[in-house]
Parts: sequence; C-alpha cells; structure tokens
Amino acid sequence: MERKVRVRFAPSPTGPLHIGGVRTALYNYLFAKKNGGDFILRIEDTDQGRFVPGAEEYIIETFKWLNLNFDEGVQKGGDYGPYRQSDRKEIYKEYAQRLIDSKNAYYAFDTNEELDAMRKQYESEKKTFQYDSSTRESLKNSITLPQDEVKRLLKENTPYVIRFLFPKDTTIEIDDLIRGKVKMNSNLLDDKVLFKSDGMPTYHLANVVDDHLMNITHVIRGEEWLPSTALHIMLYKAFDWEETKPEFAHLPLLLKPDGNGKLSKRDGDRLGFPVFPLIWVDPKTNEVSSGYRESGYLPEAVINMLALLGWNPGLDRDIFSLEELISLFSLDRISLSGAKFDLEKAKWFNHQYLQQRPNRVLAEDFSVILKEKGIDFDINYVEKVVYLVKERCSFVNELWEQSSFFFIAPNSYDEKVIKKRWKPSTNDDLYVLAERLNILDNFESNTLNETIHNFIEEREINLGQFMNCLRLSLVGKAMGPDLFEIAHLLGKKETIERIERAVKTISII
Ligand code: GLU
Repeated sequence: MERKVRVRFAPSPTGPLHIGGVRTALYNYLFAKKNGGDFILRIEDTDQGRFVPGAEEYIIETFKWLNLNFDEGVQKGGDYGPYRQSDRKEIYKEYAQRLIDSKNAYYAFDTNEELDAMRKQYESEKKTFQYDSSTRESLKNSITLPQDEVKRLLKENTPYVIRFLFPKDTTIEIDDLIRGKVKMNSNLLDDKVLFKSDGMPTYHLANVVDDHLMNITHVIRGEEWLPSTALHIMLYKAFDWEETKPEFAHLPLLLKPDGNGKLSKRDGDRLGFPVFPLIWVDPKTNEVSSGYRESGYLPEAVINMLALLGWNPGLDRDIFSLEELISLFSLDRISLSGAKFDLEKAKWFNHQYLQQRPNRVLAEDFSVILKEKGIDFDINYVEKVVYLVKERCSFVNELWEQSSFFFIAPNSYDEKVIKKRWKPSTNDDLYVLAERLNILDNFESNTLNETIHNFIEEREINLGQFMNCLRLSLVGKAMGPDLFEIAHLLGKKETIERIERAVKTISII
C-alpha cells in the first residue's frame, strides 16, 4: 500500500532560525502539499547545553508570519505526539537498550579526561583520534571489559555513553533523491554517541527513532546532514526498520552573495541584509540581529525568493504564488550546487509583491508610519497617495520618502532646480496660472493637464522648464509621480496655496 507522504521540519531551538532553515521548511511544506501529505514540526531539543530560551517560540512565530501551517507538531498536537523531544525522553531509553541487546551498540565508560589525553597523544603523533574499529578494542567499554565489570560499573552509576558499533570495512550506500547514490566507508566513521547516562539521547538516536515512530516517509534537510545519514541508515538496519525507512533528500547550501562559503549567521548584518526571518535579541548578550519581517519584507516575497534559491521550475518567469509553487514543486529540479544569496533579487521580489498588495492594505501598513510621524490623515487620501507612489517603492517604509509632500507642504525648494529652471518671468507665469486654476470647477487631472498645456501654449513658454518649476512649487524637489495627479490629489486650495507660496519665496532677481 502507498504510504501517505509525511515530512517533518525538525529544528533545534539553539537560537534564531537561519533563513536557510526556513528554506528547508518551505521545501518540506511544498513537497508535502504537492503530494497530499502532512507537514510536521518537531522540536529537537535533546542537547540541553545548547538550549536557548525563546528559540522555540521564535520558530513558531516565524511560520505564523509566513503563513506556512503545520498539520501536526508542537502547539498544534496530532496523533504522533509529543512533538518536543525533551517530552519523549522515556521513549529513547528503550531503543538504546534494544541496540545494546542486539550488539549494535555498546557502553563506553571512558571519561572525558581519558579521551582528551588520548586525543593529545594522537595529535603529538600527527594523527587524529577517533573512537572506532581501530581504537575501540583498547578503550574502556563493554566490548573490552568483562561482563561482570560492566554490570558493576552500571550498578554503581558510573557515567557512561552508549555508542553505535560501526562494522569494519563496510560500504554504506545512501540513495539520495537529489544527489543519487552516495557511498561511505564505515572505517572513516566514528562510533557516534547515541545515548548518555543522564538519560538523554543524542540527535542521531532521537532523530531516527522519531522519524520511524512518526511514520516519516521523506527526510528533506540540509546538506550538512549528509555525513550523518550513513549512521542513520545503519540505525534503520540495526532496528530492522529498513522496510519503512524514509527516503532522503539533502538540499544544497545557501551561499554568501559572492559564492564564497556558506551564508552564516554573522553574514547578514555584516553584509547589510537579514539572515533571520524575524528580529532576534540574544537573551545573553542583548545583541540584536535584524529580521526580514522588521526590514519590511512581505511574507509572500520571502517565500517566493527562498523557493527559487536552489530550485527552479524551469519556466521563464520568477513570480509564483504559493499555490503555483506547490503544484510545480519537485525534488528533481533542486540544484546540486549551492545557491548564492542575492540581495538585489530579494528586493526585486519585495517590489513585485508590494505592487500586488491592495492599495487599501498598503495604506493601512503605511498609516503606522504616518501615526509615528504625528501626521493627521484620512485613510482614503492615503490610499490614493499609495496608488500614485508605490511603483517607486520596494518597501512600505520607502513610501514616506516618496510621498511626504502629500502630507506636508514644502518649506524649502531645491536650489539646484531653481538655478537650472527658474527664470525671472517664472514668478509671473505661475501667478497667472494660479488665477487660471482658481476659476476651474473641475480639478480632475485630465482637466488640469489640458488647462496647463493650453496656458503654456498661449504664453509661449518652454514646457519642460515651466513644468519643472510647477513641480518645484508643489513638491519642493524634482521628484514624484505625474504632476497633474499630484495637483488633483492635493486639491485646488492646497495647489494654489503652494504655487503662491513658491512665487513669494523664490526670487532670482
Ligand atoms: N535538529 C536538526 C537540525 O537542527 C535536524 C536535522 C534533520 O532534519 O534531521 O537541523
């Protein structure tokens, strides 16, 4: 029988979620939804030493913001819970014992001091120490010690770890859905710790046991986990779970913009863009790292951008809705090489999605900034302003720079424009124009267009020069959208007042 697709995103709450982790989650989500499957959130917090308060909440808030919903998981619940590994502690013990019983794992009693001394000795001989088939026979473990001694040590609560016993000279084959067949020789792998005497499993044991118990069909995760997969494959074998073993897909790395190395947590603020989805304040150092949300990125833009960083649908366009991404997604179009982060492209995506956002919603977003600036506004007016200037913006916070003159009349005029465009006759021209505008009953932009053009023709003045001076009067600078639209939105009274003020203030004689 075909199994229902079940994938999981399994972050460790050791700090803010890296944007690469968000991409991993997104690919899992797209794969699940494409195949009518389940998308599960499991928190892997077995390494208590690396636990960071607030990190789990951060993860949950990130996916709420992105509107990527889990079918099961922490907070949400489900039939395969609990979904936080520290709440599943009791489960792992039994599985560690099974491995001991089947001789796939063994107790090791070597202290940290003993292992450190060993490492140093190897280093002095220019070798690297590894706990494996070449060394385990000479170390303090249940393979070398007599049974009675092992029993005694356990009874006396001597600290121990349980290590996986990698067979010698064995080739382990990973059938990766992205990379194809990957082979590893067991002699290169160390006998990884699976369980500790404090009752906690390590990542490897907990991860494999949970993927099995949660009926996970596909493990889609970052490339950095590929070496560990050899151990995971061996664990499925040791537990005799090979029939239901999940398929593996290891995703290419997200690289720095210049392609030199992995995009790291430190890169973002150093290179001027966020590497975290949300702002993060380090609870220990109070250091602040910027987030996409707070930097004005729209969740749809972040999703679209991340989807194309390492995967491409083979079509001649870049904008895809979440529904389109779901229907187009397939693992075989994931690239093998790392994907370079591209800040300009990220901004471009945001620009595109900002244009698609309904003007009313953008006006509401913008109102927050207007309120902060103490501006009194009518939301219908703001909506019209947004419509006129949004094309020039990629972020909501750029709306102010592009539209402040709609809310505050200019109190100074760009000197460079005055020098270049203003003529001794301009004051008089503008004064007469103001009178002409004053008698208009209709202040629609096309009426204004016609009236002003007729006026220019009648007086035989230079179109470009005069329009620039009119713009300077209304805006204060040589910027902004269509001038007739500006005048229309400002309204008759305000437009005339601004022209008159400019005429009074600017003098080149
Ligand atoms: N807890 C691991 C991480 O933090 C999960 C790796 C996996 O998906 O197996 O990335």
